[in-house]
Amino acid sequence: MTTCTPSGVLATKVGDGCAENPYLCYQCKRCTAGCPVAEHAGMHPAQIMRAVQLGQYDMIFDDKFIWLCTGCQTCTTRCPQGIDIAAIMDELKIIAWREGKVHPEAPSAAMLKLNYDSFVRWGRIWEVELIARDALRRPKGALEWLSLGPKMLLKGKINPTLKRGDTEAMKRMVKTAESLTRAREAQRAAADKAAAKPTENAAKPADRAAAKPVQKAAASSGDEDGGAS
Ligand code: SF4
Ligand code: SF4
Repeated sequence: MTTCTPSGVLATKVGDGCAENPYLCYQCKRCTAGCPVAEHAGMHPAQIMRAVQLGQYDMIFDDKFIWLCTGCQTCTTRCPQGIDIAAIMDELKIIAWREGKVHPEAPSAAMLKLNYDSFVRWGRIWEVELIARDALRRPKGALEWLSLGPKMLLKGKINPTLKRGDTEAMKRMVKTAESLTRAREAQRAAADKAAAKPTENAAKPADRAAAKPVQKAAASSGDEDGGAS
């Protein structure tokens, strides 16, 4: 039998990142019933939610599910608790990147990074660069592009010439996002530090709480004594 030690760390990280509360999930599995990729990985959305509640990092990051999630939002619209599950999947991808836990068989993970780099560099996605970099990264994929590329070109889905977007606006956006992330991480580190070192003041309420039953017991035994005499 597999056992696990529950931890709230992952749920807190997820909540900090996307402002969703994973603990609202009560496992009705409506999200799973509508998910188009639930059958294609070891886990499904409701299991991911439970693993987040229990802080089971490995269970989530050893599975490919979060990288197969298409962000279609079906789960989010179905959830009776109003949880934005798609946002939680995105947040888990961010955590996986940040903590070096990207699944090795997650081609979409590398593609997301290429998309991001292209946005930052050109202010918009330049598909030709994406294809070239993807082909360099995984030569087997070059064969796929050889058959798909010409069709996409003919249909006007990719543009061979570079059209720059607003690179300055993109840089400002990235800078703002990075400073928000740093501030959030600093806040989290401070909270973790405070939690790791309980102050004397924090101990006092517990002491008081522990003392209360004793006082109560003493009082009631006094009452009983009084009644008996
Ligand atoms: S639909 Fe919502 S409440 Fe139901 S299992 Fe999925 S996340 Fe949990
Ligand atoms: S957003 Fe992701 S988890 Fe939700 S239904 Fe779509 S593919 Fe499944």
